[in-house]
Amino acid sequence: MADATVLTPVLTDTWDADKPWTLATYRAHGGYEGLAQALGSTPEDVVATVKASGLRGRGGAGFPTGLKWSFLPPADGGPRYLVVNADESEPGTCKDIPLMLANPHVLLEGVAITAYAIGCTHAFIYLRGEVVHVYRRLLAAVREAREAGLIGTGTGPRGDFDLEITVHAGAGAYICGEETALLDSLEGMRGQPRLKPPFPAVAGLYARPTVVNNVESIASVPGIIRGGVDWFTSMGTEKSAGHGIFSLSGHVERPGQYEAPFGITMRELIDMAGGVRAGHRLKFWTPGGSSTPILTEEHLDVPLDYESVGAAGSMLATRALMVFDETVSAVRVISRWTDFYQHESCGKCTPCREGTYWMKQVMHRLEQGRGVPGDIDLLLDVSANIAGRSFCALGDASAAPIQSGIAHFREEFEAGMHTPAAELFPYQASAAF
Ligand code: NAD
Ligand code: SF4
Repeated sequence: MADATVLTPVLTDTWDADKPWTLATYRAHGGYEGLAQALGSTPEDVVATVKASGLRGRGGAGFPTGLKWSFLPPADGGPRYLVVNADESEPGTCKDIPLMLANPHVLLEGVAITAYAIGCTHAFIYLRGEVVHVYRRLLAAVREAREAGLIGTGTGPRGDFDLEITVHAGAGAYICGEETALLDSLEGMRGQPRLKPPFPAVAGLYARPTVVNNVESIASVPGIIRGGVDWFTSMGTEKSAGHGIFSLSGHVERPGQYEAPFGITMRELIDMAGGVRAGHRLKFWTPGGSSTPILTEEHLDVPLDYESVGAAGSMLATRALMVFDETVSAVRVISRWTDFYQHESCGKCTPCREGTYWMKQVMHRLEQGRGVPGDIDLLLDVSANIAGRSFCALGDASAAPIQSGIAHFREEFEAGMHTPAAELFPYQASAAF
């Protein structure tokens, strides 16, 4: 295992260069050499290399990337698609957007290598419509790559590599980051999750075999092809190999993106970020944004890899490390997150659609000191009826901060219950809502 205290600038290595988003800068740093190498080998070899690297999906779930590619059924002469999930929206998650802004070509090179590996001639990059600056940057990069003959028709050393890349801006809904809702949206429909199975690998975009991968996963592919499996696995841990972008936000001196091997600890990252802001101390933090159970000071030395964070009772997910100091009310923060999930619930399934609404009501009155006896049990009951009973991960995500918040800061929730039930309006006293 590599020294986890050392930052590993791979995807971020050119971010401080002059105009890092241009093809010229990218090429000056070895850009597109991985594509040339991949096109000189067979698609099967590329899949085998990515599989052997142990690269796991960087969008949160950590599913092995090469394995996902190998789930595609054998070619049948019809189209198969690659869709890059660039719909980054998780509160606290801020890695794909800066990556695409600073270096769109590493993503495009990854798209080209992946498309070659899986036999796809039309790839899509789906991102939120609000990030119009990122959308324009990607469009400019696709234009540059096409003009340079890197993508298009009849490229590559044998003149037989065809690839079209479409950049699509969605209308801005968190649920469209769920891969099947994304596919519905891309097809022009309202974005709502589809029943799985079938997984997109079997029936995805336009019901054709489709690989859906996160931006950072695809952007990691050129480095793996160039650097090789041994280089990649020399970073990180046995089961969580390689490098990742850790986004630190909140009450640290220098918030930002820190690229490091998996297995680094939160204590090390906070040190690199200049520590918790002067004069204050850590109260709690999230390992993977608002949808992962919160952690506290006792978890600062947990290695940030999928297995260790899971064993600590949370999830690594998107490495969105939000830091909160002692000035923050846990109830208030969790109430804002609950507002978010209620607003973004797509409404397809009852536990999430109704449950997030009721959790929001209870969180608001606790936040305002208008809680009633039984509110904590009510929150635990509603959240338990959402988690594991919802159609997609958004429901589970809405329950996690409430359940972990009560586990760690129950006294703050109790402090929100000031109002005896009898003093409330009759309907509130009788129905508890
Ligand atoms: P998942 O575990 O259901 O699936 C992960 C991936 O593996 C999917 O692409 C799925 O198609 C594939 N897969 C799983 N089993 C398969 C099989 N048997 N055959 C073929 N393919 C298979 O997770 P998910 O619901 O896609 O994603 C949840 C994660 O998304 C959460 O962990 C969360 O961290 C993350 N997330 C990220 C953001 C963001 O802004 N980046 C926002 C919300 C959630
Ligand atoms: Fe929609 Fe929520 Fe159900 Fe997911 S869990 S399908 S977001 S209502």
